[in-house]
Amino acid sequence: MKAINRKILTAEVVKGALEPKPLVAESMASKPRMSLLKRPSKVYGMTYKIKPPGADHAMYVTFNYMSTSEGNKPIEMFINSKDPSHLQWIMTVTRLVSAIFRNGNYDFVVEELNAVFAADGGYWKEGGNGRVNSTMHHIGQCLEEFLDEISSATTGEQVLQEISSAPENGDLADVAEAAIQAHVAEATALQAVTSKRQCPKCNYYSMISKGGCWECEREKCGHSSCEDS
Ligand SMILES: [Zn+2]
Repeated sequence: MKAINRKILTAEVVKGALEPKPLVAESMASKPRMSLLKRPSKVYGMTYKIKPPGADHAMYVTFNYMSTSEGNKPIEMFINSKDPSHLQWIMTVTRLVSAIFRNGNYDFVVEELNAVFAADGGYWKEGGNGRVNSTMHHIGQCLEEFLDEISSATTGEQVLQEISSAPENGDLADVAEAAIQAHVAEATALQAVTSKRQCPKCNYYSMISKGGCWECEREKCGHSSCEDS
């Protein structure tokens, strides 16, 4: 730092000093933009079950990928859960990550997810598999593993074969359960969007229209829009 101990007589703006920096991350801007991946009608994928301790419902995180001339590339991400309280954030994250996947420059996604710290300090993963700083960190670890697995396999069939023959992943009941849960979650979400509103008090999609008011069906909650004012 330099101390100014004389009167300032003139001042001028240094050209360029105030020009805004580009908002796009350097890693994205410096790489040549690939053409958008076009999703084929059939893709391969892996689904991870994430259940933070204390959560009522597990999340099923699915990453899908496709084979290209440059190897396997991730193409989309979905999260299914019976817990509706975070639906809007989940939708935002999955849409953004899917868009980044299709754009081709996705290397930084794992790093960004892993850098998310939850206010409560994170949790120990189920089965004593280490600690994560947040649910997003947990999802980042799954994505890292997924990218690792698809990069070393030549085709989708090969990955699936390896997974089903691996003893630790061979529990078909788990896989079936995940698929069922995913469908239940989808159906629940769909029904919620079409007929019920989200309750601002308990966050469930349990508000029904009753005599000009929206009332929460959940006994524990019982919130009514007519009680606001
Ligand atoms: Zn409620």
